[in-house]
Amino acid sequence: ATPMSVMVGVGRGAKDGVLIKNAEVLEVMEKVDTIVVDKTGTLTQGRPEVTHVETFGDWRTADVLELAAAVEAQSEHPLAQAVVRRAKGDDLKVAEATNFESVTGGGVSGRVDHTKVLIGNADLLADQGVSDIDLGRQNARAHQAEGATVVFVAIDGKLAATMAIADPIKESTPAALQTLHELGLKVVMLTGDAEATAEAVAKKLGIDEFHAGVSPTDKHEFIRQLKRDGKIVAMCGDGINDAPALAEANVGIAMGTGTGVAIESAGVTLVGGDLRGVAAAGSLSRKTMRNIR
Ligand code: ADP
Ligand code: MG
Repeated sequence: ATPMSVMVGVGRGAKDGVLIKNAEVLEVMEKVDTIVVDKTGTLTQGRPEVTHVETFGDWRTADVLELAAAVEAQSEHPLAQAVVRRAKGDDLKVAEATNFESVTGGGVSGRVDHTKVLIGNADLLADQGVSDIDLGRQNARAHQAEGATVVFVAIDGKLAATMAIADPIKESTPAALQTLHELGLKVVMLTGDAEATAEAVAKKLGIDEFHAGVSPTDKHEFIRQLKRDGKIVAMCGDGINDAPALAEANVGIAMGTGTGVAIESAGVTLVGGDLRGVAAAGSLSRKTMRNIR
C-alpha cells in the first residue's frame, strides 16, 4: 500500500467528521457488507425524555417520580438521566437512595428511607416477584407502538407507575440509512429495548432486520456469528455497553457524542454522531484503495 494516499484518505475523512484510526481500518472499510447499529444514541438522539407517567393504586405522579429519581440518580443509564431530569424539571427534591443495585439491560433498585423502589423493564419486575404488572403492560403498548421506551416502577413490591420515555430519531438517520441501503449494505438493528418499541423504530426507518431484548454480551456474540458466517461487519454504537461489540466487529464505529469507552474501542469515530459518516467512510475507502491499486 502507498502510505501517502492512505494519509490523504484519512485526512479527507477527518475534514468530513470521520476520524479513522489507521490505514488498516480504511482498508477493511471497503469490504464491509453488513452494518450493525445500536438503537439508542446511534439511530436516536440519545437524550430521552419522560413524556407520560401513568400511576396505579393510590400513587401520585409526584411521589413516584421523587422515589424513582432518587434511585435513578445513581445510575448512568440515559433512561435514568431522563427520570432525574423530569423530577428536577417538576421541582421535586431528589433524595439520597441507599442499597443501590443495577441489573445490566434490566434496570435498577434501591431504598429511599424504608421504601423499596425497583425500576426497569417488565421482565426485571416479573423476575423480582412483582406480580401485578399486567395493567402496566397494557398501558405500555400504545407508547411502545410509537417507538417510546416504557419503564415500570414498583414500590414495595407492587406496580406503582409506568413511564413512557421518548428518544426522537436523529434528523440525519433516515438519509444515512437510505444511502447505506443504496450501497447494497445490509443494516441490522440491535437493542436492549422491548420488542414492540424496537419494531416501531425499525418500521419507521425501513430497517428489515432487528433484534430486541439483546444484552451487551448477546450483541458481542451476534457479531461473532456474523463473522463466522463470512460477513464483514461494521458495528455502530455509543454506549459503554457497546464497547465489546465494537471491538469484535471488523470495523467498530463510535458516535463521537457517545462514551469515551466506545470511542477507544472503535476504529472509526463519527464526530457529530452523524451516521451519514458511515457511508462517507465506505466511499472514501473505495476511492483510496482504488488509488493504491
Ligand atoms: P439499550 O440497548 O437501549 O442501550 P439496555 O440494554 O441498556 O438498552 O437496557 C435495556 C432495557 O432495560 C431498557 O430499555 C429499560 O427498559 C431497562 N433499563 C436498563 N437500565 C435502566 C435504568 N437505569 N432505569 C430504568 N430502566 C432501565
Ligand atoms: Mg445503548
